[in-house]
Amino acid sequence: MQYISTRGKAPRLDFAGVLLAGLAEDGGLYVPESWPQVTAEEIKSFAGRPYAEVATELMARFTEPAISAKELAPLVAEAYRDFDHPAVAPLRQLDSGEWILELFHGPTLSFKDYALQVVGRLFDMVLQARSERVTVVGATSGDTGSAAIEACRDRDTITAFILHPQGRITDVQRRQMTTVQAANIHNIAIDGTFDDCQAIVKQMFGDQVFRDRWKLTAVNSINWARVMAQVVYYFTTAAALGGPDHIPAFSVPTGNFGDAFAGHVARRMGLNIGQMVIATNVNDILVRLLEAGEYRKGPVHATLSPSIDIQVSSNFERLLFELSADDGAAVAKLMDQLDTDGVFEMSDAAMARMRGQFDGRRASEDEILECMAQVHRTSGITVDPHTAVGIIAGRAHRRDGNGAMVYLSTAHPAKFPDAVERAIGTPSTLPPRLADLHERPETLDLLPNDLGAVQAYVAERSKT
Ligand SMILES: *Cc1c(COP(=O)(O)O)cnc(C)c1O
Repeated sequence: MQYISTRGKAPRLDFAGVLLAGLAEDGGLYVPESWPQVTAEEIKSFAGRPYAEVATELMARFTEPAISAKELAPLVAEAYRDFDHPAVAPLRQLDSGEWILELFHGPTLSFKDYALQVVGRLFDMVLQARSERVTVVGATSGDTGSAAIEACRDRDTITAFILHPQGRITDVQRRQMTTVQAANIHNIAIDGTFDDCQAIVKQMFGDQVFRDRWKLTAVNSINWARVMAQVVYYFTTAAALGGPDHIPAFSVPTGNFGDAFAGHVARRMGLNIGQMVIATNVNDILVRLLEAGEYRKGPVHATLSPSIDIQVSSNFERLLFELSADDGAAVAKLMDQLDTDGVFEMSDAAMARMRGQFDGRRASEDEILECMAQVHRTSGITVDPHTAVGIIAGRAHRRDGNGAMVYLSTAHPAKFPDAVERAIGTPSTLPPRLADLHERPETLDLLPNDLGAVQAYVAERSKT
């Protein structure tokens, strides 16, 4: 598979190139040149097979010829080996025709493990083959940091520096990062806000000399490899529910639109999906787009579902490229306009196409708490606030007589103890693998909110 940029001006790359590049040179995002097709017989055959096996088959279509299925198989098997459910991405019935897709059985309890456990290993494989090393730098306010740290730990080719705002993330979130004892992982608490952390990371990437000297890399959600890995559970879920004869719908709690776009990719590969529902909290840029036909940045509100507190959905650019008939210059123009004006308008034709493929709904804070309480009352299941956002949106759009509605459960409820306690009266307990999290020793360094201080810290410790 070869990849092209959504802005049309970067060189075509193979999978290994796209993996290491992350963002394209022209500021765009890489997308496959064509969509590999999966037949109805193949989809049927996925039912009951080991998750890693299906994952290898599907992902190889995107990684070959750079990485063969044969090379991929052991890597993927290892990536999912320690997930704490044998099905890796199991379904749990919520009600008649309603299913919860549990995507929190990885090491850090959010769906981000499903992609990052693979991506960390892919980086390692490609870098080893090239005898190269990189420095991963990132800022986190939530689940990405811990998932990235787990994915990078103990890999000789990577030194990782993850910034978080001191005292501004939850104890569980901080401890999931700082209790990882690995020589190549560096947790930096910044005396500032999340925006300060992000600004420092952005400035480091903007400093070309520094970036090149230390081979800075990001493992953020615009990396194609992450989207690719998330395509898999749409197929395994559809197969488990009797696909392709029975056609499921999916409701996806959405921030950067990576996960929902992966569902769209599954559809482009031939999977019949009845509905894709974009579920947001009050940070609702994509729902407003569906309503009004304009893509407008808004202020970010802090909510009970912090991992989707996002007002620009970076992966939306991949859908925009498709809605713009693969016209990279048109996409570049719209994205420039977003930078300068904070808004762009979509054509009626593009909006008609988008509305034909996606529904959307925002959930308020009260609705989220009420939904978590209702689900617990009626089914005994505790869901996290992001999952609740998905349930609210899915239920709002569910059509009578349609097939199964699947809610993506993107995080374990124990990651959000305060919201769970507010909704159902008692916090959810951590699963066995993290039961002693609050007793484990922490390793982190506190640095001032200062670019120079962070750069000096990185330069002293990076191994590139
Ligand atoms: C990251 C995250 C999301 C949003 O996923 P996107 O791909 O950014 O849309 C939803 N829920 C949880 C728990 C997350 O960590």
